[in-house]
Amino acid sequence: MSDRSTVRTAVSWAPGVIAACLGTLLVLAGILGDTYACHAQGRTRTYRSAHILLTAPAAVDASRVVDELERAYRDVVRFGLRLPPTIDVRSYSTTSEFTRMSGGERYHLAISRGGVVRLQPVSLLLRRGDLARALRHELVHVAVQGMQAAGLPRWLNEGLALTVAGERPTGTLMFEGLAALEDTLRQSRSYRSVRAAYGTAGRLVATLVAGYGKARVVRLVGSSTDSNAFERAFAELSGTTLQRWGQEQLRPSKR
Ligand SMILES: [Zn+2]
Repeated sequence: MSDRSTVRTAVSWAPGVIAACLGTLLVLAGILGDTYACHAQGRTRTYRSAHILLTAPAAVDASRVVDELERAYRDVVRFGLRLPPTIDVRSYSTTSEFTRMSGGERYHLAISRGGVVRLQPVSLLLRRGDLARALRHELVHVAVQGMQAAGLPRWLNEGLALTVAGERPTGTLMFEGLAALEDTLRQSRSYRSVRAAYGTAGRLVATLVAGYGKARVVRLVGSSTDSNAFERAFAELSGTTLQRWGQEQLRPSKR
């Protein structure tokens, strides 16, 4: 999930915590060869690895989440997307705190906004089997946030995140066209509708990647300096208009 519509100044305590924890530096060698620094004091702890700065409640060891975030970072870059050198990630002690700070729903595992990835409590993340996919999904949103702000369609953003993460949501709801799909992703509060919209967006992007290859799809995403530029780039890539392609892909026989 991502949401560019609300800009939040959000958590301001992280830099203070990092400064306060400098006196208790622990350097740990991860089992998989990843090395990260861990600063702990009071009720929060910060972990720094090659590309991740994670702030989490000190009560639970979040090292495995950091390792998974590093693997996710590498996979997103390997797909061809560009990420900032360091990703600011924050995890919370309760689901209520997570939803309050992220603006997400209780069923989300992670939400990215303004380049910051916010996570459910670490103990909950470690219990769930889909942590790897959820982290890859959110890091794709971080990678394309500039293009989303410039007019990249939400269906392409979400579909790309699902494709990189290897997620396959299913649903039986049908969409009349790309505009209806886009509306559902942007506005619907219905879990069933949103889930079906995600599945459809994932299928559309998988079709693009299968037809034109990862590199050209990544270039198409990068061409989104405004919605007109995106539509022109789409027409150059596919030889048809975005609307016509969408109608073709969303025909009942193709669903
Ligand atoms: Zn998403």
